[in-house]
Amino acid sequence: MSRVTEDELKKALSTAVVERKDPKKRWMERMMKSAKSYHKICPYFDKRLGNCFLRQLSDKKGKCEREGKFDGCPVFIGFLDQSYDKLVREGRQLPIDFRDLSMTIY
Ligand code: SF4
Repeated sequence: MSRVTEDELKKALSTAVVERKDPKKRWMERMMKSAKSYHKICPYFDKRLGNCFLRQLSDKKGKCEREGKFDGCPVFIGFLDQSYDKLVREGRQLPIDFRDLSMTIY
């Protein structure tokens, strides 16, 4: 049986505390999990044209290069990141369900 050294234990505990204290990261993970429970393919993926609706709204217009696989997509993660900042800045309540996000953010 292997033993955990004191340094390993401290490192693990400090990482856990940092992760627990980051509300933005927790909220983004929750939104991603919620989105995945509702959508197999990205809700912002235009299947017919292959476009990304989020990219269409930004300066970087373009097609989805991931065929709608949004888990880990930097565009999708960036959208969650910006949504969090916007809602917090405006003092609005953060949705706990992904379906409420699109209604809340626009
Ligand atoms: S680029 Fe990302 S956010 Fe845009 S449609 Fe593709 S998976 Fe979705």
